[in-house]
Amino acid sequence: MAKDYDLTPRRVPRVETRFRKIVTDFPVPESLPILEKLRAYEPVAMRGQPPVVWDRAEGFQVYDAWGNQWIDWSSGVLIANAGHGRREIAEAIARQASSGLLTNYCFPSAIRARVVERMAGLLPEPLKKIFLLTTGSETVECAIKLCRSHGLKAGGREKHVIVSYDKAFHGRTLGSQQAGGIPSQKEWIVNLDPGFVQIPFPDGYRTTDNSFEGFERALHERNVEPRNVAGVMLETYQGGSAAFAPAEYMRELRQWCTGHEALLVCDEVQAGFGRTGTLWGFEHYGVVPDLALFGKGMSSSLPISAVAGRPDVMDLHPAGSMTSTHTGNPVCCAAALASIELVVQENLAGRACRLGVILHDRLRALESRFPQIGCVAGKGLVAGVTCVKRGSRDPDGDLAWGVVERCIEKGVLMFSPVGFGGGTVKISPPLVIDEAALVESLSVLEEAFAEKVEKGAAA
Ligand code: PMP
Repeated sequence: MAKDYDLTPRRVPRVETRFRKIVTDFPVPESLPILEKLRAYEPVAMRGQPPVVWDRAEGFQVYDAWGNQWIDWSSGVLIANAGHGRREIAEAIARQASSGLLTNYCFPSAIRARVVERMAGLLPEPLKKIFLLTTGSETVECAIKLCRSHGLKAGGREKHVIVSYDKAFHGRTLGSQQAGGIPSQKEWIVNLDPGFVQIPFPDGYRTTDNSFEGFERALHERNVEPRNVAGVMLETYQGGSAAFAPAEYMRELRQWCTGHEALLVCDEVQAGFGRTGTLWGFEHYGVVPDLALFGKGMSSSLPISAVAGRPDVMDLHPAGSMTSTHTGNPVCCAAALASIELVVQENLAGRACRLGVILHDRLRALESRFPQIGCVAGKGLVAGVTCVKRGSRDPDGDLAWGVVERCIEKGVLMFSPVGFGGGTVKISPPLVIDEAALVESLSVLEEAFAEKVEKGAAA
């Protein structure tokens, strides 16, 4: 989004509840030197998030240094699934950091062995080999490499097409942006690889034909021979809208991929580790992909990501040819192990499912109250509220922006709107959010919508 925040402090109503405190003007005048330093020394492209200077975060709350306190609906960016600053994770990091081993490249370590064993134990067959990396984008790059290597072996050089979806986001590196489905993000790639093809995502809102015939038709329209498809990659739910595909579509896609020796890749970078009310997002579809990609919520803290896959695919490359400098960094591994234990032991997927019922019920009520809400999507503790211009399906990025800004001024923290036309208000609190805090923050969202819509109508 090209939008940015105005840094002129303005008076906002004081708020004080058990979960929210807004006791200063906003942005906080004392925070301006920090914000201005960032503007001076970082690229413009790093701007665009609300000017809240994080000082401390705990559980589902974020604090600044000037007495303000928010209910967090961001989890960073869907990172803190087990909660911010969990003692168990901080202690595991501290233990590992003081043990004398801060890094060991790809040399074997006991802690890396524990992480891959734990992940393989939790994942269904055949996702039994795990390759650790650092970011989500790297897992996407690795998946592209594995799909094409597998395609080369199964069908020769022609079998190289990577099918992905319109409006998808898979990262910001060269391959992951080509797999993505947002044209404006690819304008700089003057030599786009024709082996990346995007088709409509069956979200039921922007794509009204949800049937699997739509998949086959789209390939035909793009002159893609099914036998040349090396892999089909999708976000388990589309991050930009929180939309899921129909389970029936996914079951047919699974069969199609198997029948055509194409790999099915679920990008679970947002959906994994309990977010959607099941441990893995693909469980909603009753299918298992050939490759699953994880990041964000894997550690609730330090950078670590993973590709999980079918052993025959994961073993396509010889010794020493899939590595990375920070693969399985021991401190990051300690954070991941501790976070995974919290997600499993506290049944945070079950909690997301239970609290998700409250969240989605309230959002559906909001949708029927405001015609400016085009659709509400998501499962568990992720939701997208898509704002549209009244009487149309055109995204209303200004309304979404205004709603997010107003929520933050009232003590509910979100990242800037996402998705098509910047029209989606995304809700993704830590899975440990207190039920009363969730209910209170939903009231704040309702107030923000009412204020923004009425103001818009009056203008
Ligand atoms: N895939 C998905 C579905 C994502 O949401 C993201 C990040 N938003 C990525 C990949 C890229 O991850 P990273 O920013 O860690 O490279």
